[in-house]
Amino acid sequence: MVLNGGKNRQTATECVACGLGAGFNRAVLDVVTGDLLGGLCVGCEERNFGKSLVRGDWSLVEGCAFCARDGFYALPLWRPYTENRGGDTVCRVALSVDGATLRLCDEHLTAIAGESARTDDGDRRPNRVE
Ligand SMILES: [Zn+2]
Ligand SMILES: [Zn+2]
Repeated sequence: MVLNGGKNRQTATECVACGLGAGFNRAVLDVVTGDLLGGLCVGCEERNFGKSLVRGDWSLVEGCAFCARDGFYALPLWRPYTENRGGDTVCRVALSVDGATLRLCDEHLTAIAGESARTDDGDRRPNRVE
């Protein structure tokens, strides 16, 4: 499955963990519906997993990478590619989901997404900038 059609697929989305722009690091996709749910920024990936996601060989894993449940969510990397359009070379990004793509179950996705929401609790930010 390759998702590169349509303008919506070309926009960096918000990180599911911190809510900030995820950049073109990883996307979070619902593999059942194919919906793009958000992204995972480099900072949140490293805080949660270090380099494990990059180094792991997920082609050997069926379902969730961290437990025996089904992998309902795929976390593919955005891959840059170039396209020739009427003599101009355009740089674009695409998502490619295949058997080697990291997948997570709903519980493990929630573990990432819920983590930083909790640390925001009780963090009173001043409304004034001095
Ligand atoms: Zn983040
Ligand atoms: Zn899991």
